Formats: sequence, structure tokens, C-alpha cells
Amino acid sequence: MHQAQEPPAHPERGPHVATKRIIEFGLQPAIIVGVLVFWYFNRDLPAVYPLTILAVQLLLGALEYRYPARRDWMQARGEKSMLVAVVLVLSTATVFVAAWYDAGLAPLLSQLRTALNMDIWPHHWPILAQLFLVFFASEFIWYWVHRAEHRWRLVWRLSGHGAHHAFKRLGAINFGANHPLEMFLLVLPSALVELFFGVGIAAAGAAVLAVSQASIAHSNLRLNSKGIGWLFTTNTYHIRHHSAVLEESNTNYGCSAIVWDRMFGTFADGAVAEAGIGPTEPSLWEKFLMPLKEPQDSAIAPDR
Ligand SMILES: [Zn+2]
Repeated sequence: MHQAQEPPAHPERGPHVATKRIIEFGLQPAIIVGVLVFWYFNRDLPAVYPLTILAVQLLLGALEYRYPARRDWMQARGEKSMLVAVVLVLSTATVFVAAWYDAGLAPLLSQLRTALNMDIWPHHWPILAQLFLVFFASEFIWYWVHRAEHRWRLVWRLSGHGAHHAFKRLGAINFGANHPLEMFLLVLPSALVELFFGVGIAAAGAAVLAVSQASIAHSNLRLNSKGIGWLFTTNTYHIRHHSAVLEESNTNYGCSAIVWDRMFGTFADGAVAEAGIGPTEPSLWEKFLMPLKEPQDSAIAPDR
């Protein structure tokens, strides 16, 4: 018997499609340019870092709510509130960790710079060129730290990195959903570059760019990867790194820049079916205990 074909339930056309196309191709470049311009003109303002991160998070959060790439990844209000609370506490802790590194490492690294005759930082370059230099240099160190976390079980455990991977639903807020232990590793690359080379204010701008990029990389939005994805991580690339399948997860270690993955052979493209460390998501408490106890169904932890 012949049956008439049902029309699609919600045919997409008009302004919705146009808005989604603008988001897909324009959002990431617009955020990068907007963050750089805002930082450039307000770089002496102490609140420029938290204000920028807050604005980027609010924008991405609102768009994820209205135009999610995966509806099943929309975080419930309770879950989102818990994540916001965790991220607020950890972001505050980051400031103290950075100050601690500053006090502890600055004299040592400054002496090392002199001893090695490495007073080579191009302070005469335009400030934005210096910013990109710190950004890519810090991302180079982070690339190898992150790769080590996924290579050796001891580093995976000690860093608590598994907790960051344990979420089954991702959104922009997940950039900061890390184990407290990992704060020491997350801050380290930029602290080393800044303090060893005696960079100055450009390092603060690079940190703002890196966190904005990491927010975009976790966002639940449909974004383009072509062109911009030669240098910068896109959410397609980073969500692949969050895959619950080991082979897919062991790619794309750059959380803000992707260029080092391309250079060192760990870059991969393509969508993934599922995020997380395995079929189920551990509770918040189980995530916190991951340095001591890996959940039983974990599939992406290094085996040695
Ligand atoms: Zn990872």
C-alpha cells in the first residue's frame, strides 16, 4: 500500500538558518578578534581577565541554550549551576597558583635566563605579536604536558586529568571543569614562558586568548573548522579529544592551538558519537577521587 510521505516536522528556513550560518562561520573569528581588541584597549585594567572570560562564557552559554549542536548535551539547570560553582572556585584558585608560581619561580628562572644568556624576548615587537608568541609557546609546552597525561598512567592519575574527561555532555563551561590538582599543570606552561623570558604584559593577553579559545573548544555549537582550524583548535577537534573511544581520544592535544598536533602527527578530524571516559559518567565525588581510583568502565585511561 502506498503511503504519503510525512513532511519534515520542523522545516528549517528563514532567519534561523541565517543565524546558524553566521554562528557557524563568524562566531569563533569574532570572539578571537573581540577578545584581542578588548584586551588591547583595557590591558592595564586588573579586571580585564575575569571580565573577558565572563563575557565569552555568557555569550557561548546563551547561544548553546538557543542553538545547541546536540540537544542531548544540553546541561540541566542543576548540573550547570554545579559546574558554574566548581569553575568559579577553581578559577579563583588559579589566581593563587599563578601568584605562587610567580613568587617561587620568578627569581630562579630569571637567574637561569641570565646564566644561559637567553635575554632574547622581542620586547620591541608590537604587543599583539608578542601576545601570539607567548600563546603558541605556552601551547607548545601544554601540548607535551597533555600528551604525557594521556600516555602514562602515573601522570594521568597524579594530574587528575581523567576528571576533566569524565563528562558525557560538554558545553563551554567545561573548559574549567578540571580536577583541583590539575590547576598546577594548567597554569605551568604560561608561567614558565612568562617568567623564563621575562615577557611582561603580553603574557596576560595570551592567557585571556587561551581561556577564550578553550571555552569555544568545549562549546556545544555547530562551528566551522576550515581555515581557522589550521592554527586554532575548534570544537570539532577538541570534542574528538573528549571521545569515549581511546583511538579518537588520543588525538588533538592542543586545547587552544592545534598547530602543534598538526606538526607532531596527532591531529585528526571527524565527529564522535560519544564523549566521556566510558559508557557512564561518574558522580562529582567519584571524579574527585579519580587520582586514587579509576572508574571500572573507564576506557580511555592509559594502561601503563
Ligand atoms: Zn585530555
